[in-house]
Amino acid sequence: MVTTRTGNTVDWVRVRDDFPILASLGSREQRLAFLDSAASSQKPERVIAAVDRYYRETNANIHRGVYDLSERATAQYEAARHMVADFINAASPREIVFVRNTTEAINLVAQTWGRRHISAGDLILVTTMDHHSNLVPWQLLAEEKDARLEAVRITDEGVLDLEHLDELLAQGPRLVAFPHVSNSLGTINPAAEIIRKAHDAGAIVVVDGAQSVPHMPVDVQALDADFLAFSGHKMLGPMGSGVLYGKLSLLEGMPPFMGGGGMIRKVSLTRSTWADVPARFEAGTPSVGDAIGLGVAVEYLQGIGMDTVREHERELTAQALDRLREVPGIRLLGPEDLDDRAGVLSFTLGDIHPHDVAAILNEENVAVRAGHHCCQPLMDRLGVVATTRASFYVYNVDEDVDRLVSGLHRAQAIFAS
Ligand code: PLP
Repeated sequence: MVTTRTGNTVDWVRVRDDFPILASLGSREQRLAFLDSAASSQKPERVIAAVDRYYRETNANIHRGVYDLSERATAQYEAARHMVADFINAASPREIVFVRNTTEAINLVAQTWGRRHISAGDLILVTTMDHHSNLVPWQLLAEEKDARLEAVRITDEGVLDLEHLDELLAQGPRLVAFPHVSNSLGTINPAAEIIRKAHDAGAIVVVDGAQSVPHMPVDVQALDADFLAFSGHKMLGPMGSGVLYGKLSLLEGMPPFMGGGGMIRKVSLTRSTWADVPARFEAGTPSVGDAIGLGVAVEYLQGIGMDTVREHERELTAQALDRLREVPGIRLLGPEDLDDRAGVLSFTLGDIHPHDVAAILNEENVAVRAGHHCCQPLMDRLGVVATTRASFYVYNVDEDVDRLVSGLHRAQAIFAS
């Protein structure tokens, strides 16, 4: 039992045991220490069972069926939308669009709101620490519209240079896109402040919440975010589940993203009119079982409490940072202050290639990621080609930190000899 600073008592080992993939040894001698949740999380039994149950008991296409099964599938799918809305405190479930992932959510905004509202010469702001998913869609749009794209710089510590943001905002951008939490540095950006300033400058704001929504309380109304994109598969939900939140007034003014069944009101041979939001953005048969699984993942996280999730990851991060600093040759990236960083630890280890570090850790069944983490501009800024990245979630325990640290000492020793 561990009592967090927020006063909640949680048995984190029992939480870990909710995840079948972590509870069994599989073919290995040691249990899996899974430290790659920033890429995709593991799934608790409850989510796996919900998806299984859907296919066994409720599987049918939704919305237009007049038979029981279809009505039940529709009810569960729409209930999941309500749960997600509640989770991020959206004003209405109609503000929740189910997509496959963060990437699709951001492309949806770029190709609908962006195509309609961005014109030649307009300025779009991104940041140096953005994931490619929050860069490339804006590059495509800027190229198509002959718009300008500028990136807010970061400091050497890996935080956004807010003075540079102010300078760029003074040029009156139409749109500001930024990551709430950096997937490579762990930096938590001051989202409310950035959004307020961007709104004062007349911009619409797209928040990439892929690394924040799974790990901390996120309240879209308190933030006043215009759009928030996140991936269900990074928050204990099924692969192929993701969400675009958009303010209703903005979504209602947007043309469709894809055309087809489900998103229309009336179709003639030469033209069509569009369904109401959010159906307008959910063309074709959706991933019904995945959305239902995401609803269950949300309930699971709410059962722990997002403040408690954040606190647990903060404690693991504090421990890990303290102990990693003792590993010879390590260069830890990202801010020092625990208030400014989430449970993502990126580092280099002397001149040992990050892939070699990850391979040595894998020998001990410790799973970390190595590479550019889809942040090539950030890697260029940091002067590295790649890093090793360990990331925490609800199922990680102190023992995982021990194994990460001892694995790194071993990697050091192997390469020193
Ligand atoms: N944005 C950030 C900050 C991410 O970390 C990721 C995935 O790692 C993405 C976007 C893309 O997420 P997905 O692959 O689920 O679309």
